[in-house]
Amino acid sequence: MIVPYELIGRIAVYGLIAIFSVLIVAMGLGFYSFKKRRILFPNFVLFVLDLLYSPAKWVCRVFSIRSTLVDEIMIEVRNAVLLDKFRVAGKDKILVGPQCMRHPECKARCEPRVGYICLGCGRCDFSRLKKECEKFGYTMFIVPGDSFVRKIIKLHKPKAALGIACFGELNESMHDLSPVLPVQGVPLLRDGCFSTAVNVEDVIDKMRL
Ligand code: SF4
Repeated sequence: MIVPYELIGRIAVYGLIAIFSVLIVAMGLGFYSFKKRRILFPNFVLFVLDLLYSPAKWVCRVFSIRSTLVDEIMIEVRNAVLLDKFRVAGKDKILVGPQCMRHPECKARCEPRVGYICLGCGRCDFSRLKKECEKFGYTMFIVPGDSFVRKIIKLHKPKAALGIACFGELNESMHDLSPVLPVQGVPLLRDGCFSTAVNVEDVIDKMRL
């Protein structure tokens, strides 16, 4: 039997061109939605970027676009898609923040199942967020890593989750949790592993929803 290498090659090239075109359209729509705060075809954008996350990052690298753009778009679009469900989810919600936002001299102890127990000492933004959580019926968790988030969800069974993290981790967590419960996310203004910061007002605005 003669193997039609030329035909297979052509199909592969056309297939790659089609995938690349779909990816560029999804990125373009996502970028437009992100810039104009007007979400277009959100499910298509999320589906394509979830599926082609690594190639999308590669496109950003090739065109010298900031590497976090794909995550920023996906967070923004997922926030918009899940907003209504999050709003009506009821009172039993959780706020999950990263341990790197704590003050360097934080005295909170870390519990193996739920992370750091904030003492509300006033040295970092968690102090204010803790008070706001009490006001809006949230339970606040400060976690050292992703694995804690899954443990907390299993243990606490919240109705919805609001997360604070760097772009990459926030996008990944929102992707993992969104099939299970409505989520919203606020990315860090300054990331890294130490003395990170978030716009507290943005977090409180999400709690008010
Ligand atoms: S407010 Fe909470 S998290 Fe921040 S330094 Fe004090 S105990 Fe630590």
